[in-house]
Amino acid sequence: MSFKLTYATMFNPPAEMHARFDEALRGVEQALGARHRLHLNGEDVAGVEEDERRSPIDQRRVLGHFAVASANQARQAVEAAHAAFPAWRATPWPERVRLLKRVAALIEERVYLIAAALTLEVGKNRMEALGEVQETADFFRLYAEEFEEKNGFDIPLPDDPLEGWTSHNRSVLRPHGAWVVIAPFNFPFALAGGPVAAALVTGNTVVFKSASETPWAGRLLADCLRDAGFPRGVFHFLNGSGNEVGQALVHHPRTAGITFTGSFDVGMRIYRSLANGPWPRPCITEMGGKNACIVTANADLERAATGIVRSAFGMGGQKCSALSRLYVDEAVADALVQKLKEKMAAIPLGDPRRQEHWLGPVTTRRAYDNFARCVAAITRDGGRVLAGGERLNEGELAHGFYVQPTLAEAPQTHPLFRDEMFLPILMLHRVQDLGQAVQLANDSPLGLTAGCYGSDADLAYFWENIEAGVTYANRPQGATTGAWPGYQPFGGWKGSGSTGKAIASFYYLAQYQREQSRTVV
Ligand code: GLU
Repeated sequence: MSFKLTYATMFNPPAEMHARFDEALRGVEQALGARHRLHLNGEDVAGVEEDERRSPIDQRRVLGHFAVASANQARQAVEAAHAAFPAWRATPWPERVRLLKRVAALIEERVYLIAAALTLEVGKNRMEALGEVQETADFFRLYAEEFEEKNGFDIPLPDDPLEGWTSHNRSVLRPHGAWVVIAPFNFPFALAGGPVAAALVTGNTVVFKSASETPWAGRLLADCLRDAGFPRGVFHFLNGSGNEVGQALVHHPRTAGITFTGSFDVGMRIYRSLANGPWPRPCITEMGGKNACIVTANADLERAATGIVRSAFGMGGQKCSALSRLYVDEAVADALVQKLKEKMAAIPLGDPRRQEHWLGPVTTRRAYDNFARCVAAITRDGGRVLAGGERLNEGELAHGFYVQPTLAEAPQTHPLFRDEMFLPILMLHRVQDLGQAVQLANDSPLGLTAGCYGSDADLAYFWENIEAGVTYANRPQGATTGAWPGYQPFGGWKGSGSTGKAIASFYYLAQYQREQSRTVV
């Protein structure tokens, strides 16, 4: 491999990257339809049934047959992870760090194959898919390196001489036990891999459940972990529904902690369920977004329009970070709308297997159906569609879940300013000034990402007052999206995140551990 994928190459890919992706895609497509198993206690095993999954690009294409776990297998996985915990905890941390780096290397060896599978399973374009896989390798390496830098979170504290005896003091962070990771469908590789890496390097054992829509990505991650050579019982992979497998994991008394990434409603249910245990257990919930961008009268509108289109419509609006609400100063609103319409009309939309297509289908039939409901609601509840609004089902798009990027204008009281859609629909509202814009942006129970285009003084006001965990200003690469490990810590406030400590931040690994104060005389 003559170059490494990085954040920068995602925006300016060398030709070789496309050739390698195309080659991998051909190979992966030839092997479609295989059977895929779970990984339980060191073995690849069958489930209780199999789920036949099809591609959102074309529903006639069978991706494979994926084993579905029973609630009983979920309980077995937690018990096995609990049993494996003491030995894993006692494994010297440099060995855990070594295994994480091995996983990162394996992911990088397979980056094109895994990305091709993600394009087929989720419908994301090749650059988004390659980016997700490289981001996952970066998570493994970043967390390994951070554990090394912090010397395994074993920190000497000042000696304390009392009564002529000197106490030697340390603060040591220690793992919790069997950690459950429940991943979402939109970033099924990266948002599984990140928490799995964090839990493992800190000395927890892991039971990981993929989203039922995206078991293939989960299985490919499980392959990398299996092949890296983790000891038996340290890592388990399950596929199954939230109601059956998810519930069994959440309610198991041996579950020591959970990282859940997904919707607000499910996240809050898990958070409350976990509180019903024998003592408080850590619960990291990364939940949805209803992310706002503000464009002031001082904004560079060309830059704003570029960032807005990327963030509202990239991956069909199915990023938690996607831009959903746009508050524009009325003085520049018409000019901005004009620019947005032009850029939207130029979006290359179609089969995401092709290099030239930036926007593919939405991932699920549920989203495809929901798009029609939301567009109907725009006008019914007093708004108007400014661009887009159609589902596309002609020619080669007839068998997939393709929808147009959509811009709508509505009063702030419109329900779609409140409800999470997870669709390429951007709601616009004109405001009188920045103060009103920030007040409306904050008028949401969620607070994941936010963007602002304006002058230095505008940005100072925005940062002082905005209620969001990930913020961007004057950024053409994305108004609210595009966080990369090591560059932008990523975590929500309010209903978007339970801890306010971001993914890939200085504080992230600490959440997977508990502090032990050690004093010896
Ligand atoms: N890291 C992605 C971004 O910043 C978003 C991940 C997510 O949707 O949860 O755009």
